[in-house]
Amino acid sequence: MSPEQFRQYGHELVDWVADYWATLPGRRVRPDDAPGTVAGKLPATAPVAGDGLTGLVDDLDAIIAPGLTHWQHPRFFGYFPANTSGPSVLGDLVAAGLGTQGMLWATGPACTEVETVMLDWLADLLDLPGKFRSHATGGGVIQDSASSATLVATLAALHRASGGDWRTHGTRRRYTVYTSTEGHSSIEKAVRLAGIGDAGLRLIEVDDHTLAMNPDRLRERIAADLADGAVPALVVATVGTTSTTAVDPLPAIGEITREYGLWLHVDAAYAGAAAVCPELRHGHAGLEHADSYCFDPHKWLLTGFDCDAFWVADRAELIQALSVLPEYLRNAATDSDAVIDYRDWQVPLGRRFRALKLWFVLRWYGRDGLRAHIRSHVALARDFADLVRADPRFEIVAPSPYALVVFRLRGGAADDGDARNAALLDRLNAAGEVFLSHTRVRGRYALRVAVGSPQTTAVDVAAAWDAIRAAADGVCA
Ligand SMILES: *Cc1c(COP(=O)(O)O)cnc(C)c1O
Repeated sequence: MSPEQFRQYGHELVDWVADYWATLPGRRVRPDDAPGTVAGKLPATAPVAGDGLTGLVDDLDAIIAPGLTHWQHPRFFGYFPANTSGPSVLGDLVAAGLGTQGMLWATGPACTEVETVMLDWLADLLDLPGKFRSHATGGGVIQDSASSATLVATLAALHRASGGDWRTHGTRRRYTVYTSTEGHSSIEKAVRLAGIGDAGLRLIEVDDHTLAMNPDRLRERIAADLADGAVPALVVATVGTTSTTAVDPLPAIGEITREYGLWLHVDAAYAGAAAVCPELRHGHAGLEHADSYCFDPHKWLLTGFDCDAFWVADRAELIQALSVLPEYLRNAATDSDAVIDYRDWQVPLGRRFRALKLWFVLRWYGRDGLRAHIRSHVALARDFADLVRADPRFEIVAPSPYALVVFRLRGGAADDGDARNAALLDRLNAAGEVFLSHTRVRGRYALRVAVGSPQTTAVDVAAAWDAIRAAADGVCA
């Protein structure tokens, strides 16, 4: 493809994306096609001679767009949001065109330095403790996802807990990792990947009302493991759990991790974005105890997947845990110790220029634009919660500190009530006008409305409530 051909197709496809965003409100949020529908529309084999992208836009319209769940749809309320935005896409376009490999400072100085500065900017915007900044002992890095951040934190924690032995001998001792029963599934995966095994994972009980980790139970469990000869290594606390956005008490947890010398990783994958607003930083109280922290700008901060921002308080510990330097990567800058080589901060060696989209997003929206984005969703979620509360058929089943509302139809014996709520969700999502997902709270089935799509307005939230009430009429009849 010549630069001239690229220019022509590029213009056409930028138009296509702009049209896609503009026409989202008129689309079903989710297709209702049977599995195999999309695959059935594709040729069985790759073309032998290139086809010059003939009919490309028609295929996007006929095959791809109708076969998607539209995460940017203003009536997408499922899971957590996965924001993208114009500036993010343009930053990614430039990064893709540059095709840089940023594994070392030397392989892409701007790729590394923009990332370091962006993570410092973000730390400022979220008012993170000073130790996480690059000009202090810490620093930030972009991981592909919060799952990778948790894995990297787990490895650094093992390095610390073993006094360095883990690097040489692996997990020859019985290490233990602690999170709450509401912690994300990626913690279990990290424990497995790190070679600790599921038997080393401790799920600490939560408070029945707040669904936050009970620090007394945490302390008891650590003490019991120590008495039993295990080596407690890591606590993963969550600010904004995936099920209900519960907030673990960092001040109390931090005292315990400090007392026992455990690594404290704080997973704020979704809720961290809210901390751009001073009035939504309550979950960060006690963050000065943390050894590492992460959140996903790719969830609720207008930055397209993938972009997880991960900070450590002591970069030396992380680098010691992960650094491997083969001869073919040796270079003067690395030897000088004056640069950051991000390959030592993550699992893969290679890395793309993800900081560019973050730079575009932060420049375009500024602090105030990001605050307005978060605040509008928090206000819409509050209004939605008020509507739910005003209808006696429904109950809210968990606190809503951010923009997620978790609720259910009241009543019914456990199984019966759960079945009615599941039927309500099926009916709602089958219609395709809105999309919600579900969870279980204290064992009972509940519906989740996560307000967070960039285009969502009060009209969409009102329409969702109308659709929920109509579906409830059907289920209760
Ligand atoms: C979404 C989520 C994750 C996983 O996020 P990825 O970036 O997709 O790996 C981890 N923890 C919490 C609390 C989450 O909400």
